[in-house]
Amino acid sequence: MKIRFWGVRGSIASPGPNTLRYGGNTTCIEIRTDDDALIIIDGGTGIFPLAQTLLGQMPLTAHIFITHTHWDHIQGLPFFIPQYIPANRLVLHGAHDPVEQRDLREILTYQYQYCYFPVREVELKANLEYVTLKEYQVIQVGDATVSCIYMNHPVLNLGYRVNCNGKSVFFTGDHEPITNIYADDHHYHDEYSRFIEAKDKAILDFIDQVDVLIADTSYTAAEYAMKKGWGHGTYDTSVALAKACRAKKLFFTHHEPTRSDDALEKIYQETLERYPRQPGDPEYLLAQEGRYFEV
Ligand SMILES: [Zn+2]
Ligand SMILES: [Zn+2]
Repeated sequence: MKIRFWGVRGSIASPGPNTLRYGGNTTCIEIRTDDDALIIIDGGTGIFPLAQTLLGQMPLTAHIFITHTHWDHIQGLPFFIPQYIPANRLVLHGAHDPVEQRDLREILTYQYQYCYFPVREVELKANLEYVTLKEYQVIQVGDATVSCIYMNHPVLNLGYRVNCNGKSVFFTGDHEPITNIYADDHHYHDEYSRFIEAKDKAILDFIDQVDVLIADTSYTAAEYAMKKGWGHGTYDTSVALAKACRAKKLFFTHHEPTRSDDALEKIYQETLERYPRQPGDPEYLLAQEGRYFEV
C-alpha cells in the first residue's frame, strides 16, 4: 500500500509560519491499495489539496471512510472537487449518530445546507453512495479490506484497519484511552473496570501486529491533566498502545493546533528519550503533511 498524509492537525486548521514543516491542514489520509484503489480516511481540510492531485485521474472511484463527524474530520468534504464532476463515484462510509438517530447521509448533508454552503447536496454531479457502518463491518475495496471498531471519543468514532496482501494500517481517528471515572468505593467502579478491560482487549485484538499504527496524539501528559475527557490521546498513551499491539511503526498525529513545528520536534525528541527503542519496539514517527511512505 502507498500512504500519504494530507492533514495531520487536530481540532482546527492551523496555517502560518509556525506550522510550515508539519502542516496546518486537518485530518486526511490517502491510501492506495496495491491495485491502486483509492481509499481516503477523513475529509478534513487536507482533502482539498488531495483533490487537486486527482483532477487528471477522472473518472475515478473514491472510497471515503469517516472516523467521526467532528468538523476537523469532515470540513473539507464540500471542497472535494471530484464530487462536482459527472462519472466520478464517491462511496462515503461512517458511523450513525446514536443521539439524534441520524444515518451518515443525514449527518453529512447538513454541511450542504443553504446557510453553510452555496451548493446543495442534490446538485452534486458525481454518483454518491453512503454506507452507514456497523462495528466490525468489513468493506472490500479493490484488493484491500477495510474494517472498523468503535474507539473512545465524545461522538461515535470508528478506528479503521486496512489490510492489503498481508500488510496492514490502522488509524485510531480521535481516541482517548478509557479510564475509570468512578471512585474506588463507588458501586459502579468494578463493573466499569471490567468494561474497560474488555474494551481494551477488543481494541488490542483488532490491531494486533499492525504494520502501521496512526494514533491520535494531541497532548503531552502535562497538557492532558487539564484536558481529560476531551477524547484525545497523549504521546505516552500512543506509545503504550503501539507497544501493546506490537505495531511496527507508530505515527503520532492530530497535532495540537497551537503546537509550532519547533515545539512538536522538541516533544518528539523528549518522547524518544523517554522510550529508548528496545528490540521489537515500534519505530516512532511524527505524521507530517505531504509525507509519503509504502507498506
Ligand atoms: Zn479531531
Ligand atoms: Zn473529534
